[in-house]
Amino acid sequence: MTHRLDIKTFIYIFIAFSFSIILRLVWVYQFSAVDEFFWNDQLMINTNDGYFFAEGARDILAGNHQENDLSGVDTALSKLTALCAFVLPFSFESIILFMPTFFSSLIVFPIILLGKELKSSTFGFIAALLASIAHSYYNRTMTGYYDTDMLNIVLPMFLLYFVIAFANSAKQRHLIFSSLSVILYHAWYPQSNALVLALVFMVLLYAFVYEKDRLPLLSLSVLLVLSVLHLHLLPKLVLLVFVYWFFASYKPKTKMLLLLLALSFALLVFVGNLNSIIYLLKVYVFRDELISSSEEVKLYFFTVMQTVRESNGIDFGYFTQRISGHIIIFILSIFGFVWLTLKHRIMILSLPMLGLGFLAYTSGLRFTIYAVPVMALGMSYLICKIDEKMQDKNARFAFLLLSVFLILLPNILHIQAYRVPTVFNSQEVGMLDKLKTIASREDYVVSWWDYGYPLRYYADVKTLADGGKHSGAVNFAPSFILTHDEQKGANLARLEVEYTEKLFALEKHNKALKKDDKNYKKVPSSLLAWMMKDYGFKNSNSFLQSLEENIKLPRKTRDIYLYLPYRMASIFPTIAKFSYRDLMTGKEEIQPFFYKATDFKDLGSTIILGEGISLDKAQDLINIGKHSVPIKAFYTTKNVNEKVLLNSRMIHENGLNVLYAASYGAFFVLDDRAFNSAYVQLFFLENYDKNLYELVLSNPYTKIYKLKR
Ligand code: MN
Repeated sequence: MTHRLDIKTFIYIFIAFSFSIILRLVWVYQFSAVDEFFWNDQLMINTNDGYFFAEGARDILAGNHQENDLSGVDTALSKLTALCAFVLPFSFESIILFMPTFFSSLIVFPIILLGKELKSSTFGFIAALLASIAHSYYNRTMTGYYDTDMLNIVLPMFLLYFVIAFANSAKQRHLIFSSLSVILYHAWYPQSNALVLALVFMVLLYAFVYEKDRLPLLSLSVLLVLSVLHLHLLPKLVLLVFVYWFFASYKPKTKMLLLLLALSFALLVFVGNLNSIIYLLKVYVFRDELISSSEEVKLYFFTVMQTVRESNGIDFGYFTQRISGHIIIFILSIFGFVWLTLKHRIMILSLPMLGLGFLAYTSGLRFTIYAVPVMALGMSYLICKIDEKMQDKNARFAFLLLSVFLILLPNILHIQAYRVPTVFNSQEVGMLDKLKTIASREDYVVSWWDYGYPLRYYADVKTLADGGKHSGAVNFAPSFILTHDEQKGANLARLEVEYTEKLFALEKHNKALKKDDKNYKKVPSSLLAWMMKDYGFKNSNSFLQSLEENIKLPRKTRDIYLYLPYRMASIFPTIAKFSYRDLMTGKEEIQPFFYKATDFKDLGSTIILGEGISLDKAQDLINIGKHSVPIKAFYTTKNVNEKVLLNSRMIHENGLNVLYAASYGAFFVLDDRAFNSAYVQLFFLENYDKNLYELVLSNPYTKIYKLKR
């Protein structure tokens, strides 16, 4: 009997796993004929952060990387990728593209097994079908979404399954597997310790409220806490094996176990698991100045808080859609989950995951994926329970089929419609591939942080900013270099790169020393403050103004490139925000006027650009809402034979500039500051000071300049 049940479970897992993978191939199929999304005969990935892990894996396989290149070599995902690429006979591009497809589909294993543990494998099977493709889980684990998300839900679900299985049967293997799940989950995603500790808390609650024999769950709790310690793998395993052996041979009682639990928690604090929490307390509660140096002026950079928009007021409908695919499925799932938990109290162990998922409602949509599998179990439970109440066998089967179809439908429609592009197109990557042969691995490429990881992956260079390093202080220099005039920007580029390396050297020097050591050097609050100190400025505005002249620059240790893609034209105003501000007071300056229109209508005498902006050709005016502004100059550019042909017509003394980039079918309305910015001059006009820059690579999508000083 059990044997037959196992075959059924096996078949369910096989079907659900295949189902999850096949739906993740829809995206691949949709873009299989779009050449510009391919590189090295494979579709490229569609998540920016993925290139960080890809760079790490590439460097692991190569056996080396450059000091301070910020490569992801130490991340678990990079290591797993390198292993897959080493073992499997597929190209590296194929490996990173399809890793999320397969790994995220593993979610069906713990869900079906958990379903079987609580009720039946059919119950688990239906939940697995829904969870594997539900809206937000799909979005963050689709093919090409190469990020840690591919296992971020799979691992805690395995943990939940083993813990519940252990609570039901007290089988030793479930205890060991629970512990191993935590070790893997922690290695994969160290921030997971909060979720694991919340689970331990629920285990204890369950043990004391619902369980007569508390001993097994108490020993489990001790092992789970020890498994999540921020320790290296080897000492952690030794400790666990020892404690496990102690439990097995001495069978400690409640008092002893509670004492061990308290000790484990103390160890947790001791090795620094809670440091991130303590750090936040220090900053926010005790207002501890973490970096302070009296010789430096305080600079007010753009803060992250200013970029977080709509952090509250997420649309409830969208929130439910992301978790279940549809608001009705969401509501039914809640009913099902409550019913399930009333029948099987052990399901309170899933509350931390559910809670984390619901936190998304106030703290960001990315968390919704945590609620997906738990809610899917709720939905499936409701379906199975209603099904059981029905008499007729055929009706039961028809009901099951229909309801499964209905809960999957909105999610399948979502997958069909979710056509995200790859991060870069092949022409852009082609440029970076060429840059790789020109630039040395120690050279820096200055660009906006959005392009940092892909730049490092395709060109193997260093960058100032990337997906993990883009605070207001870090973004200031790239923003300034791109959106201010080329002379000042060129000086700052050299300064910023050399001071970035200087800071790495200083940190390396300090690393071996204690804070009170006399050789310990003070870490500057920002690179700009450091430069100002060295150049004898107390005011950042006058320092930045001084860059207009040919100042004495630090010794050049490497080359610097400027990466200018066409796609940057869409985010120019955002980039400008970081440097068009008075750092002395933190006040925003009047932002440069930069308006891009691609969807315009030429009506003969006027051209409607959209959003209330139109060009009056007869009178050479720009109408912005009810205001009219004279056109200062009208520029037309056209790319012919890899050269930019420029036509210009000076019209008024003052006013706004109009740039028509014919090859892009785009109009730009720019004030003088935007027009004279390095980005507009170097990208659209190819108008640059030959003493400062040299154009090294160019196609309509991308221009790459080399700094000459
Ligand atoms: Mn490198």
